[in-house]
Amino acid sequence: MTEDVPKLNAFPIFMRVEGEAVVIVGGGEEALAKARLLGQSSARLRVVAADADPALREWLAVNGAELVEAEYAPAHLDGAVLVFAASGDESLDRRIVEDARAAGIPVNAVDRPELCDFFTPAIVNRAPLAVAIGTEGAGPVLAQIVRARIDRLLSPSLGPLAALAASFRVAAEHLLAKGSERRAFWRAFFSGAPERALEAGDLAGARRAASELLSRSTAPRGHIALVGAGPGAEDLLTLRAQRLLMEADVIVHDALVPEAVIAMGRRDAERLSVGKRKGCHSKSQAEINALLVELGRDGKRVVRLKSGDPLVFGRAGEEMAALRDAGVSYEVVPGVTAAFAAAADFELPLTLRGVSSSMVFTTGHDLKGGTLPDWAKLAISGATVAVYMGRSVAADVASRLIEAGLSPDTAVAVVENASLASRRRFHGTLADLPSLESRTDLNGPVMTVIGDAVAGANFEHSEPLAAHRKQAAKAEPQGARI
Ligand code: SAH
Repeated sequence: MTEDVPKLNAFPIFMRVEGEAVVIVGGGEEALAKARLLGQSSARLRVVAADADPALREWLAVNGAELVEAEYAPAHLDGAVLVFAASGDESLDRRIVEDARAAGIPVNAVDRPELCDFFTPAIVNRAPLAVAIGTEGAGPVLAQIVRARIDRLLSPSLGPLAALAASFRVAAEHLLAKGSERRAFWRAFFSGAPERALEAGDLAGARRAASELLSRSTAPRGHIALVGAGPGAEDLLTLRAQRLLMEADVIVHDALVPEAVIAMGRRDAERLSVGKRKGCHSKSQAEINALLVELGRDGKRVVRLKSGDPLVFGRAGEEMAALRDAGVSYEVVPGVTAAFAAAADFELPLTLRGVSSSMVFTTGHDLKGGTLPDWAKLAISGATVAVYMGRSVAADVASRLIEAGLSPDTAVAVVENASLASRRRFHGTLADLPSLESRTDLNGPVMTVIGDAVAGANFEHSEPLAAHRKQAAKAEPQGARI
């Protein structure tokens, strides 16, 4: 142990309380807070209070705990394994502390650390798994903040998983050699098929998967998660995506996924960029499919990170087909798609009562042929249209929609770098849209939303698209007309 690591003055332990009596003296808010905390355990609670608050009374009744309605007397502590002095009265709390100590029972006095034999932690409860956070009484607020952070990291299914593990312990010790074989089993148990089955709420499936692992006890099987990274802001990542990133051996990502999101992965995870940015050299889709299959067969846990939602213009269909054909297990984790982020940035209702009740996700790259695609007809009947990868085809989108009968005055909202601090917003009409193509000042991804519902957006923070149209027209007098 090194000299410069500060020593703990309170050492954390887990105390057996199952079926044991725990006494709380007090009838107010503090007593209720302690009752709630202790209520997470299987201890028998006894609360001593001459005049308990109604809220405490109700909690005790609902939770089947005992209420002793009397002035405190030392006999109330009989048989207890822990005592809490929560009367709010300093001299009474002192007396309780003295009585408990005389009876050899560890005691905690609420808000009086100097009188405490022990402190109560903030708890992340995934029974039988528990994380207890202590600050030696120094910072209950800090403890709550840390608690909230850890709570977010730990899946609710960890509790049932730990309980299931306990039921497999004897068998594992019996069947598997101590050391690496047993460790490999538990690693596969806690981060492989049993864990995934429980995450999906399938206890029977988890038990089956665990039995299978036990009988095979071979190398762990690979698994690919196709994960939506959201539109760019790292806090628009889902909690599930974050958890998978922390468990991944390999992260395979597109160019649009920001560094900050990738950095959420395990520090020692391998990171592979597979490009896919316009104009840059990148792996072909077939190469990406082959890479994922190979990683899966190598037994790797892979997060295949895609911007936005993986199932929206993400070519996830091809990757899933390749994985299915190869018999590699996979799952899909949704993400916030760019259209939703752009709508949020514009406070733009994508559906609007009486105006628009359907929505189209399109690229606009299918407009070149002679016939109008179905989505153009939907647009004319009032759907809100979100155009992905639409910058280079902005003029086509506008002219074909107008030709098909949509008014040139239809409202249009454009967002570059939606969800990021660097975002830029533009508003205008369908007639202004072609100016997007000639802009050299937009380097980030661009989302275009078209439709009457766009008129319900907030234009306080956006620039008019038309301003640029006029400038462009001035610069090239006989320039391409809209
Ligand atoms: N799967 C992604 C879309 C990938 S296609 C999703 O669900 O969002 C790439 C296109 O998405 C870009 O050309 C752009 O039109 C859009 N896009 C992605 N991120 C964006 C962002 N932060 N702001 C605006 N558009 C974005």
